[in-house]
Amino acid sequence: MILASHLSDLFTEFLTMKAVAVTPGTPNSVHLTDIPEPTLDQVPGDRGVLVKTLKVGVDATDREINEALYGNAPEGDDYLVIGHESFGVVEAVGQNVHHVKPGDYVTATVRRPGGSIYDLIGTNDMTSEETYYERGINLRHGFMTEKFVDDAEFIVRVPETLKHLHVLQEPMSCAAKAVSQAYEAQRRMKVWRPKVAYVQGAGQIGLLTTLILKLRGLQVYTIARGEGPHLKSEIVEGMEANYISTKQTSMEELVAKTGKPDLIVDATGSSRLAFEAMQHIGHNGVVVWTSITGGDNKLEVPADNININWVLGNKLLLGSVNANHTHFESGIRDLALGDMMYPGVLEKILTNPVDGLDNYQEMMRLLVEEKDALKVFVNIADA
Ligand code: BGC
Ligand code: ZN
Repeated sequence: MILASHLSDLFTEFLTMKAVAVTPGTPNSVHLTDIPEPTLDQVPGDRGVLVKTLKVGVDATDREINEALYGNAPEGDDYLVIGHESFGVVEAVGQNVHHVKPGDYVTATVRRPGGSIYDLIGTNDMTSEETYYERGINLRHGFMTEKFVDDAEFIVRVPETLKHLHVLQEPMSCAAKAVSQAYEAQRRMKVWRPKVAYVQGAGQIGLLTTLILKLRGLQVYTIARGEGPHLKSEIVEGMEANYISTKQTSMEELVAKTGKPDLIVDATGSSRLAFEAMQHIGHNGVVVWTSITGGDNKLEVPADNININWVLGNKLLLGSVNANHTHFESGIRDLALGDMMYPGVLEKILTNPVDGLDNYQEMMRLLVEEKDALKVFVNIADA
């Protein structure tokens, strides 16, 4: 027995699987590689969860990682396996894992703990350390591979009835965090009953934020450039929110119509639009920035004007990144409710499937060139 299990240990050391990786620092280095298969015993304390990867989504972060604007390899490696939007099925669990079992559908959180107090209490998304560890992004390998293993703490169960929304769980968690941070911060008001919200950007984060705010009962205006009707406006209107094209309606005209909003969430990917939001928010309101802008753009801003209005209006600017277990769970609840409230709408976000890890070049091409793609994702295996 002992000999047999040692032999199988030895054997698994040599098992490899396909993975999509980049060489951080080298632009356009995305490539297919072979890496060792993970094993449950890599996680201490019998808390491992071994997941067969079914699908992985990509977003602008992956594009910037491939452009070498962002991201670093784990210490000791010269490559980084990409992919942070995971969806898979549990294959095996350690003895001390109780919240998921083989056969369950799951996703995984992205950030891993550093050493700050926030990391020690499960809120790695709020680390106070400059260095952060994120699977598929920074210093930790990602999920764009056939299997992954992780501590049970980082594995989140997805109900089977949501499997058609697979890779949306991670972006939804980031939207859930952004909104919940706004509400947390607005506790400063003692009473805060926001009525009007603007969501800038109708990409995946903008659309999912629209959903969350609609489910909270706000009047939501989702603002993007292109004139509808098109898929984005159809999804926004499918959630009974208002799609606004800035080609047809300027921000000033919109404010004249709705009054200044109580909340603005920027998810445009543009630091210029993020700054411009500061000129439109109402008194006591909050602007949340969520865009990751890896570039080096400069901008001239009406600083005196913004300054005085912000002071006289007690306004708040909040940055929000990543998400912890709690945000994944609330995101999943909202996806479930949203899917019931607006049947058939959310899956329209999942626009561009790519079959198989071997097709990583097509995946990157869609991500870079297909301007209408809301979500590019790779079908890695069937359940
Ligand atoms: C990911 C987040 C991550 C952020 C910064 C986003 O694309 O979805 O999980 O924290 O990039 O790296
Ligand atoms: Zn992302």
